[in-house]
Amino acid sequence: MTRRDVTERARPGLEIRDLRVSFDGFTAVDGVDLVVHPGDLRFLIGPNGAGKTTLVDAVTGLARATGSVRFAGAELLGRSVHHIARTGIGRTFQTATVFEELTVLQNLDIAAGASRSVLTLLRRRKSVPENVERALETIGLGALRDSPAGTLAHGQKQWLEIGMLLVQDVRLLLLDEPVAGMSHDERQATGELLERISLERTVVVIEHDMDFMRSFARSVSVLHAGKVLSEGTVADVQADPKVQEVYLGHTPDEHSADPTPAISPAVQEA
Ligand code: ADP
Ligand code: MG
Repeated sequence: MTRRDVTERARPGLEIRDLRVSFDGFTAVDGVDLVVHPGDLRFLIGPNGAGKTTLVDAVTGLARATGSVRFAGAELLGRSVHHIARTGIGRTFQTATVFEELTVLQNLDIAAGASRSVLTLLRRRKSVPENVERALETIGLGALRDSPAGTLAHGQKQWLEIGMLLVQDVRLLLLDEPVAGMSHDERQATGELLERISLERTVVVIEHDMDFMRSFARSVSVLHAGKVLSEGTVADVQADPKVQEVYLGHTPDEHSADPTPAISPAVQEA
């Protein structure tokens, strides 16, 4: 095994080829090729209905698809949701799904238990497992460990959900609009959290907020009508006339005095 193989195993990338998802003759994902390199912090943007969530559904086994999705050297299409989760892919949904009555610690403990034996779960533990402790620290909820999740602020619930993926040692996180409804400060904190996580794992973020994308994306793919419209750095996609046309309904005015007319925050509602 070469050194590269070892690295790839620890932090594999995602390789999607000619992915297609149809619902009753309507093609929601229409031949998508997408390669996410290990350790990337990739933003997946595009107007509502572009197919972003459906793409994540296909990768995680929730939507039937054709084409190819390879992760950690294995083909995932056609495999069950559970099989795909066991390969180290985890996702969040547009609405947080934490156990509101349980404490932060209990939520993390249950998520961690998903990969523990029944025997270990039954044994009463006096100390907090190291991976749970580390996740608490990473998501910044250490001080709230004994608070019921239902009492957390909106942003904190999203962080807890991300923590639940960390304790499962997920190697690829697919996050569906994690900062929707967050305050500016919460967004900033979330972006910094994702930067920390992507030092050890691969992260794909579906996002509408363009300021958030500009601040934290390492690479960007723009999806439109089920196809990849543009791809590259933030600067690349912002300068792409195709992207500007889709978002603003016209091609850019080259003589415009505004140096950053592309993808204004107004497109958040697109
Ligand atoms: P995005 O997340 O980019 O907003 P979606 O992936 O949710 O877009 O949806 C892409 C398109 O597929 C939309 O036109 C949506 O109405 C359609 N769609 C999504 N899920 C289903 C489904 N289960 N049945 C039928 N159509 C669907
Ligand atoms: Mg969506």
